[in-house]
Amino acid sequence: MDKKKLEKERKYGKGTRRCVRCGSYGPVIRRYNLYLCRQCFREVAKQLGFKKYE
Ligand SMILES: [Zn+2]
Repeated sequence: MDKKKLEKERKYGKGTRRCVRCGSYGPVIRRYNLYLCRQCFREVAKQLGFKKYE
């Protein structure tokens, strides 16, 4: 029953990252402690006051 530990390890595995917003797997941007895909990051960044990011 070490599910918590297992998930934590999987988080760093290749291809196991997941957007916390839309839940899709794929390239996830880790910034400001957020795990978001590009599309979600853009939307969130807008809300945070960023006009664009590179
Ligand atoms: Zn997303």
